[in-house]
Amino acid sequence: MHNATAEEFKALLSTPQNVVITTHYKPDADALGSSLALSAFLQKLNHTVTVITPSDYPSFLNWIDGQDKVLIYNSVNETVINEKFANADIIFCLDFSALSRINEMEPLVAASKAKKVLIDHHLNPESFADYNFHNNQAAATAELIYDFIHLLDKQELLDKNIAESIYAGIVTDTGSFRFPTTTSKVHRIIAHLLELGADNFKIHSLIYDSNSELRVKFLGFALSQKLTILHEFNTAFFSITASELEDYHSQTGDTEGLVNYGLSIENIKFAAVLIEREDGVKISFRSIGDFAANEFAATHFEGGGHKNASGGKSKLSLDESVKKFISLLPIYKESLTN
Ligand code: 5GP
Ligand code: MN
Repeated sequence: MHNATAEEFKALLSTPQNVVITTHYKPDADALGSSLALSAFLQKLNHTVTVITPSDYPSFLNWIDGQDKVLIYNSVNETVINEKFANADIIFCLDFSALSRINEMEPLVAASKAKKVLIDHHLNPESFADYNFHNNQAAATAELIYDFIHLLDKQELLDKNIAESIYAGIVTDTGSFRFPTTTSKVHRIIAHLLELGADNFKIHSLIYDSNSELRVKFLGFALSQKLTILHEFNTAFFSITASELEDYHSQTGDTEGLVNYGLSIENIKFAAVLIEREDGVKISFRSIGDFAANEFAATHFEGGGHKNASGGKSKLSLDESVKKFISLLPIYKESLTN
């Protein structure tokens, strides 16, 4: 896949367009932050912009500028969504590389006559877009939005709100600036965002220190009761049932980050969380070093993602999914233990 040029993007956006921006199912801070940053930027260029998400998103993101105007598929009238897609000149697809990640909205985007633009940092992008701005070295899609604004020579349109939306995406996708994707360029971008007025302390507090009491208690329960460590394979995993989620009144986003506790244990190289959801078992994978969590997810659990952070799903029961997961580990014993 090759990226479109600055000239091509400038031409595409040279006159006011009807724009729809969408992002992946269960948007995280990068998905929502980059969508809202791009939305605010394009509105400053006099485009008409609607952000449509395939599902709801965690409440700790409900401070990001413009999120109150996001249309959530299945929460608003279907004809409103259909009209937005029918009238769109351009659809921006942010922070996903496979159309299946927008779930029920996939046919709407696939069938649309609008020009499609992919802005993303995931590996192995599908080629469904007419214009691509893809870089799998980027720490976050939000970093690419910052780059995109510069590509168009419109950096003077950056402001505090756009800076905070971009900051939210970068801080979360870099694990608070600690993953190997955190380059000197990322720190330079962050420095610029602070100069634009982004309030880093406020953003960290809103994202990381706004837990409900039950979320913290659920974490304690999961850590003490639901964590299995397989020393033989340097692997740790959690499995969580739907009724356990219910006991703790679990909300969207409440299980985010749980998987990292598995990886925080000495010698653990591979961690997973298997969660029983309405539509099947959803799995998150994380790894340290060379073990390719995305290949594991793609080969066995209809998923994908990044080398060290991936996800997938299973149509088996939770117990059967756990058994399948454990049964696969011997195949990878060498790379997990070398
Ligand atoms: P998370 O565990 O936070 O849900 O997802 C981590 C990463 O895994 C995401 O950024 C995304 O790249 C990838 N991912 C998660 N779920 C799926 C999935 O069902 N399919 C694919 N292809 N990638 C996924
Ligand atoms: Mn991302």
